Amino acid sequence: MTTTYAYAATDAQSKLAPFEFQRRDLREHDVQMEVLFCGVCHSDLHQARNEWKNTIFPVVPGHEIVGRVTNVGSQVTKYKVGQLVGVGCLVDSCRTCPSCQEGLEQYCENGFVGTYNGNDRQTGAVTYGGYSTQLVVDEDFVLRVPENLDPAGVAPLLCAGITLYSPLRTWGAGPGKKVGIVGLGGLGHMGVKLAHAMGAHVVLFTTSASKIEDAKRLGADEVVISKNPAEMEAHVNSFDLIVNTVAAQHDLNPFINLLKRDGTLTLVGAPEHDHPSPQVFNLIMKRRRLAGSLIGGIAETQEMLDFCGKHGITSDIEMIQMQQINEAYERMLKSDVKYRFVIDLDSLRK
Ligand code: NAP
Ligand code: ZN
Ligand code: ZN
Repeated sequence: MTTTYAYAATDAQSKLAPFEFQRRDLREHDVQMEVLFCGVCHSDLHQARNEWKNTIFPVVPGHEIVGRVTNVGSQVTKYKVGQLVGVGCLVDSCRTCPSCQEGLEQYCENGFVGTYNGNDRQTGAVTYGGYSTQLVVDEDFVLRVPENLDPAGVAPLLCAGITLYSPLRTWGAGPGKKVGIVGLGGLGHMGVKLAHAMGAHVVLFTTSASKIEDAKRLGADEVVISKNPAEMEAHVNSFDLIVNTVAAQHDLNPFINLLKRDGTLTLVGAPEHDHPSPQVFNLIMKRRRLAGSLIGGIAETQEMLDFCGKHGITSDIEMIQMQQINEAYERMLKSDVKYRFVIDLDSLRK
């Protein structure tokens, strides 16, 4: 067992505070790593405040992790001590159900094991995430980090990056396709960068007029202020795909109206309260689709990291110390982050 320093929420109302626990001894296929950087996902905040009603307290959030391997189990073949590695939202799954067999571990029919707030498949112990000094993970759920990328900027790719990459690939974003991204936060800014790199015509929908110039710099061909009906009207019936990352309840109809025949609106934002049901005729009359998408499997996450390595894509980050996490959560709620907070875990080792 290894003593690990972390930050945890002990109940839904409390601020995150220092917390100490033991990481398990290495199993044959385990990789142990020193956590270098961990991104701050809006899901961490939902979970710390029990907004999804399933949090096991105390919770140590964090599932956008970049670390350096410090030890490996006796049967590990994929990783070596000293290697730079990544861990995302998943640390295990049943590996035998149809979804796992297809490499879609995030849809494991027996339930995947989350990097935090999950239960270890062997012991039932609650998993603790990357707001911590070290991590122990089965090698099959560890990712290779491209060497040409800044490791701190890679961390958010492990959730925000793959959560946008997967639906963009599933629904065929590429040359000749008009793709909308709703919300310029952690997920949304990765969506703009990735869809642009895939060759799509990218339109960013934002509620923040102050983000227009940034969106263009990040790769948007057009920016629409979604609260402005005239700007929205100009895009009616024109989108192949819109990926909606908004973390709050809102009306979906204005976005469904923008889809062309057979177009798809995919929800990835996971707000505390459901959106009101959209108008049925808006879907029927143009065979439009409303869909959802959850992160991505391990193979696709590696594919995404390699794609980012090839295209020089990382997240735009604001580095923080672990001790600043509560302030970061408040700023994230005000959409005041450009565009992802990343924790420097050296701040916990001092
Ligand atoms: P974030 O950084 O806070 O970004 C969310 C963005 O949504 C904001 O920057 C803002 O963009 C927009 N927004 C926020 N409140 C709004 C409101 N009331 N009305 C309209 N727009 C609003 O959050 P994130 O980390 O990107 O996560 C976004 C959501 O995705 C969260 O619910 C998170 O839990 C979920 N998530 C889902 C998955 C999955 O697998 N499906 C994975 C990770 C995260 P503008 O200022 O541009 O309007
Ligand atoms: Zn996340
Ligand atoms: Zn499975």
